[in-house]
Amino acid sequence: MENAASRLAEVETNIARICKPARREPQDITLIAVSKTHPAEKIEQLLEAGHRVFGENRVQEAQEKWPALLERFPDAELHLIGQLQSNKADDAVAMFDYIHALDRPSLLKALAKAMDKAGKRVPCFVQVNIGDEDQKGGCAIAELPDFLAKVRDADIPIAGLMCLPPADIEPAPFFAFLAKLAQDNGVEGLSMGMSGDYETAVQLGATHVRVGTALFGARG
Ligand SMILES: *Cc1c(COP(=O)(O)O)cnc(C)c1O
Repeated sequence: MENAASRLAEVETNIARICKPARREPQDITLIAVSKTHPAEKIEQLLEAGHRVFGENRVQEAQEKWPALLERFPDAELHLIGQLQSNKADDAVAMFDYIHALDRPSLLKALAKAMDKAGKRVPCFVQVNIGDEDQKGGCAIAELPDFLAKVRDADIPIAGLMCLPPADIEPAPFFAFLAKLAQDNGVEGLSMGMSGDYETAVQLGATHVRVGTALFGARG
């Protein structure tokens, strides 16, 4: 049985190996350890191995697990990677350092209000519905320039673009397309790539990869 530290080392080695031919620097890629559904004890193993950047997809789960962990590891950085309901905006702004799924005007309004109230600006990734899938969240591709302008107007720092490509088909064209959209719209960060495809995402310019299973094992 591999432990958390050796899994972490393996993923970091894979990222470094891909960086070389892609002419990128490993330190320019943030590995977000997606700890959703995993208990605090498993998260602690990665914190003790020196990792500091984590992702959760539910505000309530993060509120249950993280306050105690943050007491011991106050420099841990938390990313909200999942869909966010507008009525959870205050809690999300209080708990997280980054929010990855800003994708619609109603949520933008709620987050701007929550940030004003908290006196804190939380950088957000704008999620793009890169495969134009009905069931998925994300801003429509055609609406992206307009939506980004609205985010800038609301004085919300834009951390980058984020996507979840369609399941079961080659993700590379979608990652390349997200990178092109970021470039066209003057956005720097790219949150893309999960356990199955983070190496491809790094090749294509990901600045943030969101990796759960490859670090923690299968979710229960
Ligand atoms: C769960 C999740 C991940 C991590 O998925 P793995 O396949 O376990 O690496 C990444 N991004 C989002 C948005 C997720 O919900």
